[in-house]
Amino acid sequence: MAKAVIAIVGRPNVGKSTIFNRIVGERVSIVEDVPGVTRDRIYSKGEWLTHEFNVIDTGGIDLGDEPFLAQIRHQAEIAIDEADVIIFMTNGREGVTAADEEVAKILYRSKKPVVLAVNKVDNPEMRSDIYDFYSLGFGEPFPISGTHGLGLGDMLDEAVKHFPDETGADYGEDFIKFSLIGRPNVGKSSLVNAMLGEERVIVSDIAGTTRDAIDTTLKYNGQEFVIIDTAGMRKKGKVYETTEKYSVLRALKAIDRSDVVLVVLDGEEGIIEQDKRIAGYAHEAGRAVVIVVNKWDAVEKDEKTMKEFETKIRDHFQFLDYAPIVFLSAKTKKRIHTLIPEIVKASNNHSMRVETGVLNDIIMDAVAMNPTPTSNGKRLKIFYTTQVAVKPPSFVVFVNEPELLHFSYERFLENRIRDAFGFEGTPIKIFARARK
Ligand code: GDP
Ligand code: GDP
Repeated sequence: MAKAVIAIVGRPNVGKSTIFNRIVGERVSIVEDVPGVTRDRIYSKGEWLTHEFNVIDTGGIDLGDEPFLAQIRHQAEIAIDEADVIIFMTNGREGVTAADEEVAKILYRSKKPVVLAVNKVDNPEMRSDIYDFYSLGFGEPFPISGTHGLGLGDMLDEAVKHFPDETGADYGEDFIKFSLIGRPNVGKSSLVNAMLGEERVIVSDIAGTTRDAIDTTLKYNGQEFVIIDTAGMRKKGKVYETTEKYSVLRALKAIDRSDVVLVVLDGEEGIIEQDKRIAGYAHEAGRAVVIVVNKWDAVEKDEKTMKEFETKIRDHFQFLDYAPIVFLSAKTKKRIHTLIPEIVKASNNHSMRVETGVLNDIIMDAVAMNPTPTSNGKRLKIFYTTQVAVKPPSFVVFVNEPELLHFSYERFLENRIRDAFGFEGTPIKIFARARK
């Protein structure tokens, strides 16, 4: 089931990002060394009681040089487009302002449920000042304090009441769910069209033809697939839809629902910083990844060109060293047929379980070949290894002292596991646990 999405909107400085951080809490990234990946999040997981959802901080979506009012208007429109529930945030210390009324007008036209929050109500005496906010037309205002963490429970109680029916089924386990991410104009929607046009592909549901359908389902060789957010890929027109932050937001939402993520690059233009950020999100989310170099028809080539491009990719995306690379052209359809098999392979590896006995033989062989490290006269001891999860495959290594399993040795073990079992296209995770 796709998680419900809450968006926080409101004019600058009312405390949106403070509340966003409160809701999502501290989240430790698995890739601290990928620049741009964890800073400045605008989309993240949150939890309240038994509900899991995603939160968007629309204030983090910088729309460039637009005038103040246009900015907040667009942020409100993004919230309406992307969220199931909107938290409209205001500032209790400043009262209702003209900008608040502007936001209210836009939200009022939408059919999305709105929860009105009045922030910076840091002490109980201030609670009597919030009645003015009824004038915004969204019913009862919820007094909160981001600084002191007050009132958030009541506000979230109200928000989760409006979540869409969580019993509605998403796609079953038989489907391979994949998305295409990449900056604007790399050819994502052309690629989708090219795939759907393939002879052996049977399209069962094209986004846009069915009411509210945003995904496309298809069948190939008896296997069912869902292309996540096909509608979003094709949608172009609104001003904010071409901004980087908005495409990142769409990408994060799509990644969240996918098993496999296709990171699409433009072979003609080459790799830029924005590609790297987008690719980092896929890796961080633990999804299987296939790198697609599109527009290969437009590249002047000799026999070295592909190898050189591949080296560049490996250089720029070191964290994606497990991802296969496919060179193709959506325009001429050259090598389009190689893509779906790569998606299938990556997906299978993403959900692969290995046998514990074989796994432990591999680890013991690895240790015999390259003895475990020592630190302050203490040597790492590995007792036992087991796979604890799939999507992505995750392993727990029981050791004498977890701190002794350094990054480089962990990396060595990962490589031995990869050599033995494959796992092409998927990240794998290794955790050390103490066994006393
Ligand atoms: P945003 O622009 O809406 O994202 O606002 P920020 O989260 O950046 O907050 C703007 C300022 O308000 C910062 O200086 C915060 O420390 C402050 N702030 C946020 N929440 C509260 C609160 O509950 N009480 C008080 N007094 N200040 C707050
Ligand atoms: P998106 O924004 O990533 O969905 O990109 P589009 O699919 O809209 O494509 C952007 C532009 O690149 C369009 O003008 C396409 O015609 C062009 N394009 C897409 N794929 C190819 C390709 O394989 N080769 C060439 N030469 N152009 C392509």
